[in-house]
Formats: sequence, structure tokens, C-alpha cells
Amino acid sequence: MTVRTRFAPSPTGYLHIGGVRTALFCWLYARRTQGTFVLRIEDTDRERSTPESIEAILKGMAWMELTADEGPFYQTDRMNRYREVIDDLIERNLAYRCYCTREEIEAEREAQRARGEKPRYNRRCRNLTSSREGIEPVIRFKNPIEGSVVWDDAVKGRIVISNDELDDLIIARSDGSPTYNFCVVVDDLDMEITHVIRGDDHVNNTPRQINILRALGGESPVYAHVPMILGSDGQRLSKRHGAVSVLEYEAMGILPEAMRNYLVRLGWSHGDQEIFSDEEMIALFDIFDVNRAPSNFDLEKLLWLNQHYIKECESSRLQRLLEQQLVSMNIDANTGPSLQDVVEALRERARTIVEMAEKSLYFFNDFDDYDENAAKKHLRPVAREMLADVRNRLAALGDWQPEALHAEVVATAEDHEAKLGKLAQPIRVAVSGTAATPSIDVTLALVGRDKTLARLDRAIGYIDERVAQNP
Ligand code: GLU
Repeated sequence: MTVRTRFAPSPTGYLHIGGVRTALFCWLYARRTQGTFVLRIEDTDRERSTPESIEAILKGMAWMELTADEGPFYQTDRMNRYREVIDDLIERNLAYRCYCTREEIEAEREAQRARGEKPRYNRRCRNLTSSREGIEPVIRFKNPIEGSVVWDDAVKGRIVISNDELDDLIIARSDGSPTYNFCVVVDDLDMEITHVIRGDDHVNNTPRQINILRALGGESPVYAHVPMILGSDGQRLSKRHGAVSVLEYEAMGILPEAMRNYLVRLGWSHGDQEIFSDEEMIALFDIFDVNRAPSNFDLEKLLWLNQHYIKECESSRLQRLLEQQLVSMNIDANTGPSLQDVVEALRERARTIVEMAEKSLYFFNDFDDYDENAAKKHLRPVAREMLADVRNRLAALGDWQPEALHAEVVATAEDHEAKLGKLAQPIRVAVSGTAATPSIDVTLALVGRDKTLARLDRAIGYIDERVAQNP
């Protein structure tokens, strides 16, 4: 048997990272078994489906590099097929027209509630032989009355649902449009899906879908219902917890491989291993090993993994990502040092591409203000002479390279009988506005001669001003 999995999002909003984890599991399982991964857009809900949302799904999947082997298929392209199957079910007496009005159904529900029964459709039209004038009927599926639906869920284990819990589901509305649970079954059958991997919010749909599938002569696929991702407060992960759309993580400067690595570990593990290359994930991942318990989203861990992947990332790719980020911040990357040098200086110090860009701003543009604490601590009168001295030495330097810069800074500190840090910190604040930069020689090399000298002058002026204000 060739494994065929599918990811079947409804395009009614952004692509949630919980959905992306489902997609990842589907993709991994197909890859591991040399099977096929299908992408299907469940856009039958015309009121809630939007082109923007479809775009967000396709972009998110592309960014995550979860390439589908087949699809995207769109349910709205398959309406004729659904109608054909509905007609066939009616023909075979496995579905029927129901003429009950909304009011009748509501009244029946009320009566059931009053009797202390669970409200459900009373199957009045199930054996009807004639139609009712003036009412466009809905189509209901004849759910079996006896017995139960049993399946061995790959994640949750055996699940048994008695048929008397299940209504005769509406499979087509009175305007003829097919309903969600029905379309899923027809699609899974036609697309020969062998493993339905999805969020466990769909568990309740599964017995209904299995009954329809059987009526259509299909065999049950393996179902794997993956527990939800929770926020740190144990509630289902939502916007209140922070970013939930996968594209927000792209915008935040997360690398897709870090996201894949992070998401695969949400609900699945292999011993204590935290870092997984794609090859390892594909070789090791098994849907049958996914944990039953929900997992909590932990941004710190994602950032930690991202930092790991930034350190490992090829320079040219980081340069490209950094440049895009700088452009989006209106920085002209041509006005500063080479991006290759910037990337090498910062790749160990940034947890995201956005952080890398933010830490590199002073290489390109002058900053407005000093970090208040840093200036207070390091731009003090004791540093003034040293700063003036190092400024002159650097101005005289022919070779603006890290080694020569380092030598001048060390020599200046020695002349003033100061520890290197006593000079390096004021220089850092002077040239970057902050006390945290890469090593001083690399920092100065990247800032460049003109900007370094001008900013040292500015820092000296700042100290003088401070003295003038507080003599
Ligand atoms: N379209 C459904 C959703 O977005 C998924 C259905 C399924 O996987 O069976 O929640």
C-alpha cells in the first residue's frame, strides 16, 4: 500500500501554526514512507472562505517548504462530483430528502429538551414516500441505527461511538450545496487517502464520516487525531498568546527549518534529542508515536532553535534574508559594510533575522540617541582623554582593518594605564549607542573610518556637555 496523506485547511483566516504542525506531520509521514502528500483547500464555506486566506495558506506552506506532491485541489472545483455522489446515495436509498422546516425542527428540539432527552432530528422524513409542496428539501444521510463505529486511532487508541449518538446528518442544504463532513469523505475516498492526520477537534466528525464512507463502499483510512497546541496558560493557543499565524513567524525572522524542528517536537520525541535535520525527522518520525497529551507552545525554545539554525546557516542565505529585512526597515544596505561581514559578526549574537537587522542598524545609519544607561555608565569624564586619544590614533591609521584597529585601542588603554574594557566600553557606546556590540575591532571595522571618527567626536562632545551642565 502506498501511503497517501493530506492536509486540508479551510481558508477562513490565517494559517495557524497548529495547522502547520498537522501539515508537517502529514508531510513527514508521507516522506518517511515514500508516499504522497496531498494539499486540499476546503473552501466550500463560501461565506467564510477568502482569496487572501488561500494566499496565506499557499505562502505559509511554501515558506515552510512543505511541498505537496499533488494539489492544491479546491473543493469548489468538485461540486459536480459531490452532487453526483449525493444523487447516487438517494438512488440507493442511503440518503433521503427531508422536508422538515426549521420551525418544526426547533419545536421538536424544544419538546425533547422538555422531556429531558438529548435534542436530535427525529427522522420523520427517513421513510417518507412523497414530497411536500413548496419546500425545498435538504438531503440527509441515513445513519445506521444499530451498532457502533469503532476505529483504532493512531494517536488516541481505540475509540467507540454508538450509532444512537449520531443524527441523520444533512449532506446537502436546501440550495443543493454539499456540507462539510460529506465533502471531506468524498475527497478522502477519491483522493485515495490512507492516513487522515488532523487536529483532535475533528474527533466528533470521524464516526459520521466513517459511516458515510462505508455507504460509499470505501474502506476506513487510518485516523490520527493530533492533540491541540496550548498556550502557556493551558488554554488552546490563540492570538491572545502572541503570534499564531505562521507568516508572522516568517516576519519575525524565524527560519523555516527552525520552525519545522520546533513543531515536530510538539507532541513527538525521539529520546532527548532536540535538534533534528529534515533527513533525521523523515527517518525517525512516526505518526503512531505522537503523544496523546497536548503540548504547550514555548517561544523561548523556538528562539533557541532559531539561533542554532542561524549559526549553521549558509552565509549567502543569511545575507539575502538580512538584506530583505533591512529593506523592509527602509535601510539602504549599500551604505554600509559588506553584508557578508555583518552576518559573520552577528550570526552568533542574534536569535532572529529581525534581531540581526536591529543589531546592525548603526553600521548603516547614525543613531539618534544613546542608550540611556549605557551612556550614563560609560560616557563619563574619566573616559574623555582616552577617547580623544584613540580618536587621533585611529584618524592617523592607514589600514582600517581589525588587527590594526585592535592594536591602536590596546595601545591607547596601555598608555592610560587602563584595562581594555575601560576604553572598549566607551568606544562601543560612542559608535553604536549601546554597550553590546561584537568585538571592538570587528565593530570598528564594520562601522568604518568616517562614521567611527565622527561618532567619537560626538561622544567627546557629549561628555563635555555633561560636564558643562554639572560642573
Ligand atoms: N478543513 C478542516 C479544518 O481546517 C480540516 C478537515 C480535515 O482535516 O479533515 O479544520
